[in-house]
Amino acid sequence: MIIVLKSGISDAEVNDVCRRITEMGYGPHVVRGEFKTIVAAVGEERGRPDLRLLEALETVESVMPVQQPFKLASREVRSESSEVRINGVTVGGRDVVVMAGPCSVESEAQVLEVADAVKASGARVLRGGAYKPRTSPYAFQGLKEQGLRYLAEARKRTGLPVVTEVLETESVEVVAEYSDILQIGARNIQNFTLLRRVGEIGKPILLKRGMATTIQEFLLSAEYVLSAGNPNVILCERGIRTFETATRFTLDLNAVPVLKKLCHLPVVVDPSHGTGHWDLVAPMAKGAVACGADGLIIEVHPRPEEALSDGPQSLKPAKFAQLMRELRPVAEAVGRGL
Ligand code: PEP
Ligand code: MN
Repeated sequence: MIIVLKSGISDAEVNDVCRRITEMGYGPHVVRGEFKTIVAAVGEERGRPDLRLLEALETVESVMPVQQPFKLASREVRSESSEVRINGVTVGGRDVVVMAGPCSVESEAQVLEVADAVKASGARVLRGGAYKPRTSPYAFQGLKEQGLRYLAEARKRTGLPVVTEVLETESVEVVAEYSDILQIGARNIQNFTLLRRVGEIGKPILLKRGMATTIQEFLLSAEYVLSAGNPNVILCERGIRTFETATRFTLDLNAVPVLKKLCHLPVVVDPSHGTGHWDLVAPMAKGAVACGADGLIIEVHPRPEEALSDGPQSLKPAKFAQLMRELRPVAEAVGRGL
């Protein structure tokens, strides 16, 4: 249920409503908008007092049932779009934020070379995997903590914040120590223990849609993080499995306007995994910006033919630079900066 409070009520009055909600057995989450304050009461309604009783209070304007099961992510709770801030970079604001870097961190020299190149072209965040979720246990599994140290080195040198994947609950702390955004990969999007754990930390979380995850399931995964107390969630469409085999996945660009309609969280698109082919990355990146994405996450490698993972979908730095030049007018055409 959503409890809409009357305009101009004091903090003490908000706290009083929250206390009553807690006493009724629900978890109160306060959302302060520019004009209105709203309290989302989270919890199973069966067997608990009816929250509509709160309409008897003078401080409460109305109590509304939430149709969507993803209460905290929903636009019904917060009509303004959320912005996620990372060390001076805002995702979900006017500017489209491009995150770029190698699929895997392979060496210090490799990650520094890519970081310098993508920064020079206008990327705002450095990506790179240190813990890699590989289909085969025999494939390169990542440099792990050493990889995190190389990423931190690249951040120190370039000033770019770092996004990197956390694979399991045991490594949340160490990944959070070295990085600025924690990525939950497509294969972990329904690892509810991990989602709850990253909900307990304050750092921004990039949630990648699973390859067989519906929009509703995706938003319920976001809800795990939000309801555990972390409001800094960025959603990422990275392609889903369909009958089509011409591309690695089917990049579902429908998801961008659908997610923007249903929820207030920023949405970014990964055209690298979404297509699996470097030459399809630029057209789909432009398409993503045109249909309203708040950002892109793109794989870049100086020598894709030698990459330890995802070489075929990685752009060389010069191609990435060209894409960035071509993206600017697309962003401007839809009222965004880059
Ligand atoms: C990645 O970003 O390198 C990655 C493994 O992504 P996904 O979880 O979307 O497959
Ligand atoms: Mn990859």
